[in-house]
Amino acid sequence: MDKKIKLPENVKRIIETLNSKGYNAYAVGGCIRDSLMNKCPSDWDICTSSLPQETLDTLGKNNIIENGLKHGTVTVHIDNENYEITTFRTDGIYLDNRHPENVIFVRDLKEDLSRRDFTVNALAYNDSDGLIDLFKGTDDIKNRCIRCVGDPDRRFNEDALRILRALRFSSQLGFTIEDETSYSIHKNAMLLKNISAERIMSEFVKILTGANVEDVLMNYYDVVSVFIPEIKPMIGFRQRNPHHIYDVWKHTVKVISHIEPQKVLRLAAFFHDSGKPSTFTIDKNNIGHFHGHPDISELIANDVLRRLKADNNTISKVRLLVKLHDLRPSATSKNVRKMLAKTGAENFLLLLKLKWADAMGQNPLLLNEKLKYIDELEKIYNSEITGDSAFTLKQLKINGSDLKRIGINEGKKIGIILKCLLDCVIEGELENDQEKLLGAASEINKRL
Ligand code: ATP
Ligand code: MG
Repeated sequence: MDKKIKLPENVKRIIETLNSKGYNAYAVGGCIRDSLMNKCPSDWDICTSSLPQETLDTLGKNNIIENGLKHGTVTVHIDNENYEITTFRTDGIYLDNRHPENVIFVRDLKEDLSRRDFTVNALAYNDSDGLIDLFKGTDDIKNRCIRCVGDPDRRFNEDALRILRALRFSSQLGFTIEDETSYSIHKNAMLLKNISAERIMSEFVKILTGANVEDVLMNYYDVVSVFIPEIKPMIGFRQRNPHHIYDVWKHTVKVISHIEPQKVLRLAAFFHDSGKPSTFTIDKNNIGHFHGHPDISELIANDVLRRLKADNNTISKVRLLVKLHDLRPSATSKNVRKMLAKTGAENFLLLLKLKWADAMGQNPLLLNEKLKYIDELEKIYNSEITGDSAFTLKQLKINGSDLKRIGINEGKKIGIILKCLLDCVIEGELENDQEKLLGAASEINKRL
């Protein structure tokens, strides 16, 4: 790999400034890995032999964010970008599979590279010394391989989050995990129990949204089931139904890989059939059914996402999509309006994406019919969704105050009337027009 790495001007300037005071400094980690792969790095990290105070003294106090100082990190903010400058360090002993007891600042780059997680992340570069690759990281990039720096068992015992980081890089980069590292991941997966929910969730979402998610979930479901044991019954669960050719887990993984790599959609795909094993019944013709599974899947999604400390907005969107994923009314305007009333306009297309991916993970012989149906729903949606459409109370052209103005004052009555008007609009029996709605409201009021 003879690729020349091109440091951004600001990174060059920081390195040169530190060099001018006699310190070593390099761009390090993911930015070098990505540059060697011709990918645009998301950020540039710098490591240096200067102690944090020396870094501060050298770079001046301007544009400095002193947040991670005690861990040896000085953050510089230039041109709207943050650059983390970390003093070369080794980690002290680890007692809890999470954090070193202390960090020890050192002057030697080699020691700093040795404490990094994977060979492809243990690369450093500056223009005068060129690429520093002490652990054959370049070969591993060429061979598309994730391999621990040093002994995998020791490295995963030090910090068990590295187990998920390995899966995450494999999913994002499409790299295979090297045998010894892979063996150690399976062996030490239980150590993830010592890692906080927030750190797990952040890596889990990166695993799910990676391009190579299918391989990772098929090969490392034992790791995922350490923090989501709810998936265990799905693995190998035969569906015995003509719509399906895969077991519940393999189907789930196929659906995830067929939906776009966006957090909510991938999480919804992950959970959509999790309620299947517990709702399984078999009829007299030996056909399997899963009546009511979306409701159970929704409960499981809610439990797991709360436990993993996902944010409320993510949880409620995932729940909604999981709950509604199996709705299959015939493709008529009225039914689409009813679906819209349940999803809200902003989630309807997300639901169709989930339904599309769900179909892609089922029996290919029945696929065309299912895709045609989803297409129909989308066409109707496009013609239904106009400025005058109303699928929620908010979109009705009148509200409670309008009703008060025509003499309907009781709160409970107002609620009933508005709901009734919305139902009529959704059913296509009434136009969403202010005058017509008010007329209908007084009619309903007389009958209440
Ligand atoms: P990304 O492109 O997602 O930012 P990255 O490789 O830069 O990927 P970061 O989490 O930003 O990953 O970490 C920066 C570098 O710090 C890594 O490349 C690796 O060298 C080191 N590193 C990060 N976390 C760990 C860890 N838990 N154990 C050992 N080294 C780590
Ligand atoms: Mg990074």
